Amino acid sequence: MEKLSPFSRRDMLKAGGAAAAMAAGLPLLPGSVLAQDERKTTQVPGYYRFDVGDLELTIVSDGNITLPTALEADNVPESELKAFLEANYLNPDTVYSQMNVCLINTGDELILVDTGGGNYFQDSAGKLVENLEAAGHSADQIDKVILTHGHPDHCWGVIDDFEEMPRFPNAVYFMNGKELDFWTSKDAASRLPENLKLFATGAFRNLNPIKDKTTRTKADFEVSPGIRTIDSFGHTLAHQSVMVEQGSEKLLITGDAVHHWPISFEHPDWTPILDMEPQQAVETRKRLMSMAADEKLTVVGYHMPYPGIGHIARNGNVFRWVPAQWEWQPKG
Ligand SMILES: [Zn+2]
Repeated sequence: MEKLSPFSRRDMLKAGGAAAAMAAGLPLLPGSVLAQDERKTTQVPGYYRFDVGDLELTIVSDGNITLPTALEADNVPESELKAFLEANYLNPDTVYSQMNVCLINTGDELILVDTGGGNYFQDSAGKLVENLEAAGHSADQIDKVILTHGHPDHCWGVIDDFEEMPRFPNAVYFMNGKELDFWTSKDAASRLPENLKLFATGAFRNLNPIKDKTTRTKADFEVSPGIRTIDSFGHTLAHQSVMVEQGSEKLLITGDAVHHWPISFEHPDWTPILDMEPQQAVETRKRLMSMAADEKLTVVGYHMPYPGIGHIARNGNVFRWVPAQWEWQPKG
């Protein structure tokens, strides 16, 4: 059969629709057989599957957050920061930040890396469970949760805002011991700048109830075979990232050690106010990006453009983010 162009095919469908409408005795509207539809305000469900060796990974979106640009660098003139964002076709006044939560299915366990921001932080966040369900999993199936750090967009999803109980009721947790101690101490707020003091209140509310269910990790702690934490201090006191190794395949889940595209890559020396220990954060950022580039790791970035999977390449003395292709058929 002769191949139809998209236009002639569409015309045929319209003609078929008209014939069907007439056969059913329906009135034909003037101008168009196929009614104009209302504008839709939803996207596809926020999950994306891929494989690392025998493991099935799913990026499950918690939605997004929006932050003032000024938080992204306090050691450069604001005009320079804004010009850089504009040159990258980004809003110079607000940072639109994805929340790419990683779910690892080992076959025996479901392991979540971070819990999103819950419903108290920003209205556009707190979509994790909804998207988890769309991906075919329920909150009570989660066995383990690795928390990279105590910031709101990563741990305020621990407690269910309605039930006031853990959102993942059957899970045990893994967080660096120093990080857990800091955010569950009464004086955490005193270590934070004025505009971030609320972070301490929310972290305490979420982390204190699960303290007894939390394993205090240190560097290279094996959460499950082939899945271990790595120290990536600086963004917070004892921030941790996650390395997944399956045979020759290696994946780095950075958490917020590398957290803004393209600032973290092209200007790794710029120090965001969100980095608690700025100089240590710069060193960690460069160390992780160098490792990712040298070892050609696959990388998941919590705040990278959705779904946040890619590679890191060197670009002179700095780096660049190379997004991975969206694959429509995971191995399964
Ligand atoms: Zn974050």
